[in-house]
Amino acid sequence: MMRKLLILLIFLFLSSCAPKQAYVSISFDDGWSSIYENAFPILNKYDLPATVFVVTSYIGSEKNFMDWNELLILSRHGKWEIGSHSHTHPDLTTLKKEEIKYELNQSKEILISKGFYPTGFASPYGQFNEAVIDIVRKYYLYHRNAGRPPWYNSIDNIDAFNIHSVTIYYDTSYEEIKFKIDKAIAEKKWLILNFHDIVEGKPKHYQSNVEVLENTAKYLKDSKVKVITISDFLKKHGLLE
Ligand SMILES: [Zn+2]
Repeated sequence: MMRKLLILLIFLFLSSCAPKQAYVSISFDDGWSSIYENAFPILNKYDLPATVFVVTSYIGSEKNFMDWNELLILSRHGKWEIGSHSHTHPDLTTLKKEEIKYELNQSKEILISKGFYPTGFASPYGQFNEAVIDIVRKYYLYHRNAGRPPWYNSIDNIDAFNIHSVTIYYDTSYEEIKFKIDKAIAEKKWLILNFHDIVEGKPKHYQSNVEVLENTAKYLKDSKVKVITISDFLKKHGLLE
């Protein structure tokens, strides 16, 4: 008993001494063609990894979305993680249990049949509830939220099924993103920047301009903050096998 307590105290002491540091992850939702055409070359230039959450029924069939070969190139490059964003992009909170299961399972099965092993899931529209998360736990090893506070994740207190992110909208400026990165660095938090479609010219809705991404990538590199995929962060912190 005393021995166990002593070991626990030593563990707590050592873990409180371990230097905490900030982390940033970059994610892209839906699987737009622009991820391959615009975001991939920019992140390559700065040697940064990312996670893309794809809608499997769009891949290789919908105009403006990546095809399976492009997804394979992102993944083979070694730095990109491929996750699921459902099969048809419904609001999961409006579906029956069996329909939610279908969305999650179908997407996972298709990704596996194409040679990808997705561990992460991001709910479409950032819409989920307890019933959705219970089902996500059956098919995936983590869930990334969107559009909900507290935006930042505390490094020593992470729930793999309640991972927060900051959505980058069409009117989110580089200065605002830089402010969020600086806050994560100062507070030693884990920040996930969640982009969608990366376009040239004036962005609309869930789009961002290529220059916003380029400036963000350059700042991440210059600031020397640790940039990591979501699954690699979880592995590093013992939250994913
Ligand atoms: Zn989406």
